[in-house]
Amino acid sequence: FLIFDFLFFMITFDNVSKEYPSSNGYKIRALENINLRVGPKEFVCLAGPSGAGKSTLFKLIIVEEKPSSGKVIIDNENSSLLRGNQIPLFRRKIGMIFQDFRLLENKTVYENIAFAMEVANYSNKEIAEDIPQILEIVGLSDKKDQFPRQISGGEQQRVAIARSLIHRPKIILADEPTGNLDLLNSWDVVRLLLKINELGTTILLATHDQNIIKNLNKRVITLDKGRIIRDENNQNNK
Ligand code: ADP
Repeated sequence: FLIFDFLFFMITFDNVSKEYPSSNGYKIRALENINLRVGPKEFVCLAGPSGAGKSTLFKLIIVEEKPSSGKVIIDNENSSLLRGNQIPLFRRKIGMIFQDFRLLENKTVYENIAFAMEVANYSNKEIAEDIPQILEIVGLSDKKDQFPRQISGGEQQRVAIARSLIHRPKIILADEPTGNLDLLNSWDVVRLLLKINELGTTILLATHDQNIIKNLNKRVITLDKGRIIRDENNQNNK
């Protein structure tokens, strides 16, 4: 059995359940017996209606929550064993993007990324070296001095993605990143996620958008009422 220890997964959920306390004393079971393995460099879509448990799954990955039972192992680290003071460093492995872009409106594109790096104690030299490269990846070099209100929603989301790249994350969790975008801007964002995936980052994309899920043709995990009801790899059957 030991030999299987050499098989490496970026994300492992081993019989994970998560319950939240509720005001009436009963527990809310947000996830139930989740078994999941995601390899390095995989691109996975996470589907399912609201309340299905997608955000809880993300919270368990970034260790904002710990499992009620079972094990969550991220890049070889068991989340239940992480101490509070180890969590900030652990989280640098993971970039997060959201439906609302969460940019600072009074800072330019460049400054939004620089600010995140300053807060994380990067040197001015690192900031000056890294940001042009990051802007190049997300295709916003020519927009670096614009303010968020001066660029499109898709471009704003690409700034948020740029900001999520500052620690060179191994995993990106994207929670409905196209929820506020029209079709063209949505595909700009999805194409950028595909490109970042090709550069070596594991991506989990939670989305309601069936059009994106169908056209992406990647592995789709469907959650319903806290359970995985489908896990399909579509990569070869187009
Ligand atoms: P999704 O992201 O798919 O909409 P969630 O993970 O947010 O699903 O929610 C799953 C279930 O857990 C829902 O029933 C939700 O109401 C419940 N839930 C989520 N977070 C909490 C919390 N902090 N406290 C109590 N219940 C919660």
